[in-house]
Amino acid sequence: MSKSPFFKNIRFPNVFVLLVIVFVSCALLICINFFTIKILSANRAYANGESHYSKGQKDASRHLITYLYTKDQNQWKLYLEELEVPQADGIARKTLLKVGDNKVAREGFLIGRNHKDDLDDLVWLFVNFQQVSFLAKAIDEWGQGDELIFKLFIVGQEINAQIKYNLLTPESQKKFLDRISVISDKLTINERNFSNTLGEGTRKIKNLLIITNIVFILIIVLSVCSYYSIMVKRLLVSKKEIEVKNENLIIVNRELDRFVYSASHDLRSPITSLKGLIEITQLEDDIDQIRTYLGLMHKSLTKQDQFIIDIIDYSKNKRKQVVMEPVSLQELFNEAISQLMHIENANRITFTQELQVDQIQSDGLRLKIIISNLLSNAIKYADINKKEMFISVKTYFDEGYNKIEVSDNGIGIKEEYKDNIFEMYFGTNKNKGSGLGLYIVKEAVENIQGNISVFSESTIGSKFVVTIPN
Ligand code: ADP
Repeated sequence: MSKSPFFKNIRFPNVFVLLVIVFVSCALLICINFFTIKILSANRAYANGESHYSKGQKDASRHLITYLYTKDQNQWKLYLEELEVPQADGIARKTLLKVGDNKVAREGFLIGRNHKDDLDDLVWLFVNFQQVSFLAKAIDEWGQGDELIFKLFIVGQEINAQIKYNLLTPESQKKFLDRISVISDKLTINERNFSNTLGEGTRKIKNLLIITNIVFILIIVLSVCSYYSIMVKRLLVSKKEIEVKNENLIIVNRELDRFVYSASHDLRSPITSLKGLIEITQLEDDIDQIRTYLGLMHKSLTKQDQFIIDIIDYSKNKRKQVVMEPVSLQELFNEAISQLMHIENANRITFTQELQVDQIQSDGLRLKIIISNLLSNAIKYADINKKEMFISVKTYFDEGYNKIEVSDNGIGIKEEYKDNIFEMYFGTNKNKGSGLGLYIVKEAVENIQGNISVFSESTIGSKFVVTIPN
């Protein structure tokens, strides 16, 4: 059974593409989230490091001022210890900027009181993102801070030298205090800028992460929804197709049952009558009577022959694939007419042909079945009471279709039969045919995507028009 045009016209996007989209989106989402979390964690480590840097610098300033006024060596030691924190961070920065030894940088960060678990993230972010605007800006602030730390170190050295050589006066103490204050104030600004820049970058990354997560999740949800809706649609379509196929199978089975029953009956009936005729012929001596019986036997055999031809046509039409090939309608008509001339009264009929279309692209086997059956019916159902009997065949091209017309001035078809003539085994005269002819014609026409219509009037004649797609 061929697929109905409804199902043929339904097109689905390739579900494979949707699965690829989901897979790629998930992979990207995982990567983006992984790296973003790593960046945010490194940012946090830098913010943490900055607080140690700032605390170290402030404590160093405090100890230096105390040392300036108390000359307590312990304060000098504490000053040096605290100053080492920003100084070590500075070494790490300079090493990483020069693409130097990461080990030295890690050591610097460690002395800068960063947690040892944060060292990898600190180095990784610096190495890979130092060109990114927010980090570049933060590193710049950090650089300026390191310069001020160096200045604080110089001030410390000067104070220590003056204390050592007892040169410190109240005026120089005042000057040193001013210098330390100025450095501290500037450092506070740098440290604040560093934290703000990092914070700003972190916020931007967080917002970007939220947006990308939403976008990817939407893509994944939409793709999965479309995938499911396509699969559900496909299931529904297959279900419908199976239902249609089942219905067709039921019809075919029913037809087959009828066909087997009637075929066995119709095949046997000529044999039964033949047997009867042989029996009575055996008892007959009159030669004329014997001839009459022989004539009847011939008729019986012709009928059976026709029936077998119909069965063969029926089977070919059902089983053989439609093959599109160049077909000559002229040749098909000539062949059919010459093969049908044995039918009673055929030689009394006038055949006319008006073939505007001859060569067409279609299925030769189906066209042969159609033409032969329509012509044989026109001959069989000719009106022998009419003075002139004619059968006319026409072919022409009309509105994009090839048309074949077979008309006759035969006995015509009564109104009440018109709806049934294409049914299996429908016949008004069982002596003239099997009732399969027009049923096979209709199936053959449908096989080549055409249609057939009939115009007929009882006692006037009939016209069958077959439309074939070009
Ligand atoms: P059959 O083998 O009986 O001819 P068909 O299926 O070919 O069966 O035709 C079905 C019935 O249609 C015929 O019995 C006949 O009554 C009617 N019919 C078909 N073709 C013609 C025609 N050209 N003129 C009149 N009646 C026709």
